[in-house]
Amino acid sequence: MLNQLTISELTAQLARREVSAREATQACLDQIARVDGKIHAFISHDPADALAQAEAADQAIAGGAIKPLLGVPIAIKDVLAVKNQPLNCASKILGNYISPYDATVIEKLKAAGAVVFGRLNMDEFAMGSSTENSAFGLTRNPWDTSRVPGGSSGGSAAAVAADECIASLGSDTGGSIRQPAAFCGCVGLKPTYGRISRYGLVAFASSLDQIGPFTKDVRDAATLLGVMSGADPRDSTSVPQPVPDYAAALTGNIRGMKLGLPKEYLIGGLDPEVKAAVDAAVEKFTELGAEVVEISLPHTDYAVATYYIIATAEASANLARFDGIRYGARVEGADPIELYSKTRGAGFGPEVKRRIILGTYVLSSGYHDAYYLHAQKVRTLIRNDFLKAFEQVDAIVTPTTPTAAFKAGEKSGDPLQMYLSDIFTISCNLAGICGLSVPCGFTKNPKLPIGLQLLGQPFGEESLLKLAHAYEQATAWHREKAGG
Ligand code: GLN
Repeated sequence: MLNQLTISELTAQLARREVSAREATQACLDQIARVDGKIHAFISHDPADALAQAEAADQAIAGGAIKPLLGVPIAIKDVLAVKNQPLNCASKILGNYISPYDATVIEKLKAAGAVVFGRLNMDEFAMGSSTENSAFGLTRNPWDTSRVPGGSSGGSAAAVAADECIASLGSDTGGSIRQPAAFCGCVGLKPTYGRISRYGLVAFASSLDQIGPFTKDVRDAATLLGVMSGADPRDSTSVPQPVPDYAAALTGNIRGMKLGLPKEYLIGGLDPEVKAAVDAAVEKFTELGAEVVEISLPHTDYAVATYYIIATAEASANLARFDGIRYGARVEGADPIELYSKTRGAGFGPEVKRRIILGTYVLSSGYHDAYYLHAQKVRTLIRNDFLKAFEQVDAIVTPTTPTAAFKAGEKSGDPLQMYLSDIFTISCNLAGICGLSVPCGFTKNPKLPIGLQLLGQPFGEESLLKLAHAYEQATAWHREKAGG
């Protein structure tokens, strides 16, 4: 079925004129009609618009155009601005807001010929690890619908795993691409801070947020990273570092590369089946000719606490703009203050309110030095741990998550338990480095995907892709299908 193809498979078939972009897009739309009632990866989608883009792609193909994503249906997390499409961040506060412009990554996807469609479900404002914090209802894990797909980009992961699109985009502030990719059995990449423009990504924590792809294999992740990377005058934090040909890194040869295994990551809460899968993957890397050494990231223990100070502080400032005046929904009040508080009281969900309150507290005078400033210092120590490790190794290997996907409802009443599910992914954002999750096995009963995380130095995406690709070539995990 066309909706099951990878980007490289589909573009090859399109180039040979064996299939049309319209047929591929229709196959995705048919799959959505078949399964999305159960999975609910999409908040909304516009089939007529998707098909019109596909037809334009078919005309371009007939005219001899060659572009990296020409005719490929790619679905988008509801946190990225797509011109003339709804933009809600899975929140009620944006009302029926329609984006008047394209995010830079969307412009780039469109310029590369992609069929950009759909609004994928997520935790409200990307705050969460299960997609249960959406104002638009739960997304379910295609491998077991009693379980969560992870979050915050749960819809992006579930849509790829259920073959409702060829690939998707998400965002990652503390693990929101890698954790759901692990839970749903796809490849998820969080690029280095500054690799991809954040213009048109609704800000959660501006010093941590980064956009990245969800794909069915590593080659597709390399393709999307190449299309999306590069400096952008509209985002001053994007870095003018040259964009390599990432596909060229996929040589299959990792002989002599050095991998670090952080001893601090073998924690008590690590599920034995996850540990066994990661151990086996490490063994596989050794067989493939890589050298694995033990390393130390001594400030690991402080990562979750540091993140929940910095991320909430930045969120409290970023979310101040949702005031009922400028965007979206409004609840009227007798005066502006009453209007603000009524609008925000009705518009934000409980997790977003918790974060705003926490973030406002750590920034308040009297507590700023004790919490926020302190956290910034610990953040530097965490970054230095990584930079030191990368003097010794090409990449770091860890589990992506301590357990496979948990049940819906299992952690929603206990925010701290939920926060701890990001324990392996959060440091990467604090350090500003890059990280990738690739499928590395399954639990037995029930059968749920397990993810392997590779962390790389700033702008070291080529090493991650090279390692993950060689591993993927030597294993068959990524070929297994949810429900198949
Ligand atoms: N789960 C983390 C949080 O709730 C990370 C979210 C993200 O990466 N957007 O903040």
